[in-house]
Amino acid sequence: MPEHPMPDRFDYPSNLARAGSYRTHRSAFWPPAASYALGCLDLAAATPDLGDGFRRALAGLRGAVEAEWQRVKEIGIPARRRFNEPMAIAEAVRGVAKHLPGEADRRAAELRANAVQDGYDDDILRELAALEEEVTLVAGQVSTWYGKEVRGLPTAFGCRTDDTRQALVAEALADRDEVAAHLRGLHADLRLGDLPAFGAAELFFMAGEGNLHPKHIAYFLPEDEGVKYSPFKKTYYFANTHRALLETVSAPLARRFLDVGVDFDPAAARFAAIPTLGVLSHELGHFAHRRATDYKALNTADRWASVVLQEVAADVFGILILADVWAPRMGIDPADCVAYYLAECLRYTDRGLGHFPDSDGMFLQLSYFVRLGALELTEDATLAGEPQVVLAGLRSLARVLADTLLATDADRAAQLYAEYGPATAGPLAPLVERLRPEPFRSVEYGQEHLHTAATTDR
Ligand SMILES: [Zn+2]
Repeated sequence: MPEHPMPDRFDYPSNLARAGSYRTHRSAFWPPAASYALGCLDLAAATPDLGDGFRRALAGLRGAVEAEWQRVKEIGIPARRRFNEPMAIAEAVRGVAKHLPGEADRRAAELRANAVQDGYDDDILRELAALEEEVTLVAGQVSTWYGKEVRGLPTAFGCRTDDTRQALVAEALADRDEVAAHLRGLHADLRLGDLPAFGAAELFFMAGEGNLHPKHIAYFLPEDEGVKYSPFKKTYYFANTHRALLETVSAPLARRFLDVGVDFDPAAARFAAIPTLGVLSHELGHFAHRRATDYKALNTADRWASVVLQEVAADVFGILILADVWAPRMGIDPADCVAYYLAECLRYTDRGLGHFPDSDGMFLQLSYFVRLGALELTEDATLAGEPQVVLAGLRSLARVLADTLLATDADRAAQLYAEYGPATAGPLAPLVERLRPEPFRSVEYGQEHLHTAATTDR
């Protein structure tokens, strides 16, 4: 036995046993893997053209956040979700804010700088919720991967509203009743809760933990900043990051391992709307519930399984909302939605098992389809089938979730997880064997324009 065995990102029990134990982990890469392969996304293209001073101020904010990230690695997080030295970061946020031309943007950044300095209060949250921002600046002890560190790590980001995609979001959400009716059609007791605001954006700046690997495609504020139960919530979705991940990871995996009669091509016009709607529908899927739904018992029995199954439910109800409800109304082929969804299942599964609850959840979904016969795993490890049959499999899984997880039947929910989850590779073993020797794929943000700005004295 070698003293330091090669990390195996598919070794579910070992990885799960180490979940949350990475406080002093300093590598830019996580989870530990033998090798990594990177695509690149240059953020310069999305950066608002607000001059050298703006780019210098962003570089200053990056320096302040990265210094705090180092401090946290040395001495830990001082009080829950606060910085060791908040003043430097608050001042750096103000330094960027003064370059923003929009009054609402400046005010929002000023409020967030105050929150960095003194913490959030209801007045700040209420005023922030009412501001319509074009450019959003966030700095905080922001949530990172659940299996890595549950208390968040110093992160700052900047993004700008994507008007075209925001219009898609509005169009999709225009008729909530049709979604509620579709859920009732799946199970008479299913209902839909209130969805927080959803902002489709282009990311132009990332520093600290959020700049490490792998990348997040969305943040959920203020919850990801450690403020639970705020009545004012908004999801910030980075469409350009998601697109880069689809190009770098999902599409190549789909070309190699998927045969459902539709080629997933993120650059094709017919797929243009699907990723944004896919993430939006996943968010909506989190709010599908029954009157009796309560995760407390399952959380106590097995917190990891509970988080995995909640992600599964969001995926399953989400993709059904997208393919069955929105696609027909918005002129999108449901088969394209299924191709996108399965490509994403491959991307998440490829990240490994026992590290990310949502990856374990997508593994569970693929495993369910293969067991059910909705997909066949061929001899060369290709997932083959018909989009309509996969949708039938999704409706079946939706009903199972409604009768177990959402019915607050913790025993049967745990059984579902044990039977189809990653504890046994089961029918997907040949796929895992093919993925195992491949490098972990991620996306690096190019932010060279900030370096230039920081070192040029003009
Ligand atoms: Zn989710």
